[in-house]
Amino acid sequence: MKKKVFHQMCGLVLVTLLLSMAMVSFVFYNQLKEDIHRELSSGTAYIKTGLEAEGVDYLLAIEGQHKDSRITLVGADGDVIFDSEVDLSKLNNHKDRPEIKEALQTGVGEAVRMSDTIGRQTYYYAEKLSDGTVLRLSSTTDNVLATLMKSVPFLLGIIFFVLCLALLLANYQTKRFLEPINALDLEHPMENDSYDELSPLLLRIHQQHQRIEEQIAELGQRQQEFKAITDNMKEGLILIDAEGLILSVNQSALALFHGGSSVTEGRHISNLNRDSGLQKAVDSALAGVTAEEILSLGSKLFQLHANPVFEQSRIKGAVLLLLDVTKERESEKMRREFSANVSHELKTPLTAISGFAELLRDGLVKQEDIASFGGKIFEEAARLIALINDIIKLSELDENDVLLPKERMDLRETAEAVLSRLEPLAKKNGITLRMEAEVTWINGVPRLLDELIYNLCENAIKYNRKNGSVFIKLRPEGKQAVLSVEDTGLGIPEEEIGRIFERFYRVDKSHSKETGGTGLGLSIAKHIAAYHGGELLCKSIFGEGTVMTARFPLF
Ligand code: ADP
Repeated sequence: MKKKVFHQMCGLVLVTLLLSMAMVSFVFYNQLKEDIHRELSSGTAYIKTGLEAEGVDYLLAIEGQHKDSRITLVGADGDVIFDSEVDLSKLNNHKDRPEIKEALQTGVGEAVRMSDTIGRQTYYYAEKLSDGTVLRLSSTTDNVLATLMKSVPFLLGIIFFVLCLALLLANYQTKRFLEPINALDLEHPMENDSYDELSPLLLRIHQQHQRIEEQIAELGQRQQEFKAITDNMKEGLILIDAEGLILSVNQSALALFHGGSSVTEGRHISNLNRDSGLQKAVDSALAGVTAEEILSLGSKLFQLHANPVFEQSRIKGAVLLLLDVTKERESEKMRREFSANVSHELKTPLTAISGFAELLRDGLVKQEDIASFGGKIFEEAARLIALINDIIKLSELDENDVLLPKERMDLRETAEAVLSRLEPLAKKNGITLRMEAEVTWINGVPRLLDELIYNLCENAIKYNRKNGSVFIKLRPEGKQAVLSVEDTGLGIPEEEIGRIFERFYRVDKSHSKETGGTGLGLSIAKHIAAYHGGELLCKSIFGEGTVMTARFPLF
């Protein structure tokens, strides 16, 4: 800008200079013409007086004195009577000369003619005398161009000098002019003290600043909202561009791939993980095709959904969503195993029933054994019924959408009721039952909690020693209701404690069958505890006894 302003100023100075030089020359030339005219007319008047008084002799007398102008006296017929510069014999009749013609007609005549010499011109002034002759004075001078040409070196000198001066001044002035503009603080446009003419521009910049700041703040807020939402997602979310570079990655995804620390924006997705499934899904999404893959990360399984993002039918990138499907996969596996186990568990008593019935049908059982065979069929059928009942309860609890209504209930009442029902079994096994219970209110389903306490107490009796004891304790503890069932029984080997809650798992298979167990009781109890927002834990010392503790939130 500085250069431009400087050049324009110089150009302006040069043009102005040339124009003013030309105009001065023109004025000067006109002035010169005027002077010549005045000089010639006054000279003519002066000589005219002398001539009229003294005649032609006067002209001869002053011939030497008038060096600047040529004096010519022309007769009324046009013949030259006297000429101060040219021999009369060389001069022809002047009757047709415009200034003579005009003087003869009007008394005064004037004319300007180019002379033979290039660049010079002659001014003629003629006046008619009283005797009819015409006195003419002429003066030769340079024409405009020649006058100008003559003064060219002088003009060039002036131009050069003025131009140098103008350059210096233009440079100084440009700097001075641009200084406030260069010093403008565009960050704070309204705080500038500059040219008034710049005020609208500065105001506009200020408004633009404000708008940009507002937009940045809005964008920042949106980004924060997006981050807050995506960071609170359990699912991993990754956005990549068309080159596979990471645009955004939420905390969950970072935790899955990196343990949650590294900043990965701007890096290629392959830096996050080199799993072939991930690469395949990314390639597919960036080619415009939605893809799904199962990724195994650590001990967990994730379902990856990779969707392409289009903008005006061009692929701009992809959205990768990672869902933890470990539980689903595990419960799917569990369900498969459960179906296999159920078939097996059902088949055993049915095979026995069918065997006994076949023997009876074919008359292969002695009369006196028929009752015992019938008893065995009854036992197996009862086992079958118990098994089916337990399966029904489990599937009831498995259906998460089936909501059994909860109510405020005193757990002590339920425990007391269970205990009184188990009294005969305890007596039969020679087990002493003891209970220490406080009133404990919880929000629960009485039928289910009855089932839970029954299972724990029944196990404590079943897997006990002869003359052993069972101690049931119930009390509120902080915000929890704590129910513990302690027995002095067989105990559970340490390595099997974790497995007793699995479906159909039994520590001692033969003993469990003897006691009529299905292997589902603890599994059902654990489900019931979870359904009430509680937990069921087992502590056991093999050979000494077991403590089962259930905890629930108090009402
Ligand atoms: P079951 O119908 O066989 O009793 P459970 O699910 O109730 O099935 O229990 C699973 C297994 O855990 C039992 O077979 C038994 O081996 C063991 N068990 C449960 N409770 C006790 C206990 N109080 N003392 C010792 N072992 C126990």
